Formats: sequence, structure tokens, C-alpha cells
Amino acid sequence: MSHCECGRALKGGRRRTGCVECGRLVCRACAIAVRAVTYCRWCARAASPTRVIAGRR
Ligand SMILES: [Zn+2]
Ligand SMILES: [Zn+2]
Repeated sequence: MSHCECGRALKGGRRRTGCVECGRLVCRACAIAVRAVTYCRWCARAASPTRVIAGRR
């Protein structure tokens, strides 16, 4: 089983979320949708000059 960068185990669910920038699989908590694509929370900070949806609140 793979793990997200945050340490959470990625369950082999029906849909795994991957970052389009770095390609890593991230958990739902770390996946950030920017427009039509999904970034991990780390790439989203670098890729989006504007505000992105915060993964944590
Ligand atoms: Zn990424
Ligand atoms: Zn995560």
C-alpha cells in the first residue's frame, strides 16, 4: 500500500487522486482541484499564483 506525503495510507478505492504536476498519488485531504485539474497541496501552492482551495481549515 502506498502512502501519501502526509503519511496517510492511500486506500485502493475506486478512484485515486493523482497530481498532474508531479504525478504522485495523494489522499483526498491533500488533493487540491485547480480549475479542471488536480494538484497535490504542495504543487498547488507553486502552480497557482492565486488563491487555491485550502486543503486544511
Ligand atoms: Zn504534485
Ligand atoms: Zn495526504
